[in-house]
Amino acid sequence: MATSKFEKKEQLYEGKAKVLFATDDPDYVVQYFKDDATAFDGEKKGTINNKGVVNNTVSAVIFKYLEGEGIKTHFVEQISERESITKHLEIIPVEVIVRNITAGSICRRLGIKEGIVLKQPILEYCYKDDDLGDPFICESIIYAFEYATPEEMKYIGDTALKINDLLSKFFGERGITLVDYKLEFGRFKGEVLLADEITPDGCRLWEKGTNEKLDKDRFRQDLGGIEEAYEKVLNKVME
Ligand code: 5GP
Repeated sequence: MATSKFEKKEQLYEGKAKVLFATDDPDYVVQYFKDDATAFDGEKKGTINNKGVVNNTVSAVIFKYLEGEGIKTHFVEQISERESITKHLEIIPVEVIVRNITAGSICRRLGIKEGIVLKQPILEYCYKDDDLGDPFICESIIYAFEYATPEEMKYIGDTALKINDLLSKFFGERGITLVDYKLEFGRFKGEVLLADEITPDGCRLWEKGTNEKLDKDRFRQDLGGIEEAYEKVLNKVME
């Protein structure tokens, strides 16, 4: 791993799965990936051994791949097992959920079964607020409360669908079906960049052939074998 030119400074923020640290350059931060796991809006808590190491590397590989395919992201470099440098964004408080196959909350909301392959991807938006449980919102709410502008949402929607094609191909070639996932975006020097992480914490990933769950649903649903599932994703992503 290359030595970084950035020096790690004080802690800025601690989230459920990551800690952000300042660097000597205000435009850049260190993302530190923890082993802590939460589900159901923080009601269920635990740790997944080595998750931080796996997620940091999985996310670095995926962000580098997306950058190479022309997607603008916050990612700069991985500097250690659990740390990466990213640009210091102003996060847009809208979580973007992309679905290719039904699972999770859409099944509960619409009373449908898991595993229906969608004729076209679904894009959903949630307001990023843990205390409120990241509630489902629509575009007119986003504009009324100025969470993002129509121009930003047009870019975010188009980019999310491009990312969906790229990630579905990336995982598909590695024997994994990309079921659904969450994306976040942020502002940096007048541009909107892909932010946060892309890991088995925020994606549903099913092994092709067996449909074995290789993601945080193993923790949410107490299925066991979570460390092994995350390792499997890491190994496949590194192929
Ligand atoms: P659902 O709406 O079915 O609960 O989640 C859809 C997808 O988005 C799943 O892959 C889930 O992991 C991801 N997702 C939704 N909200 C969050 C969140 O607050 N944090 C993380 N890490 N992933 C989320």
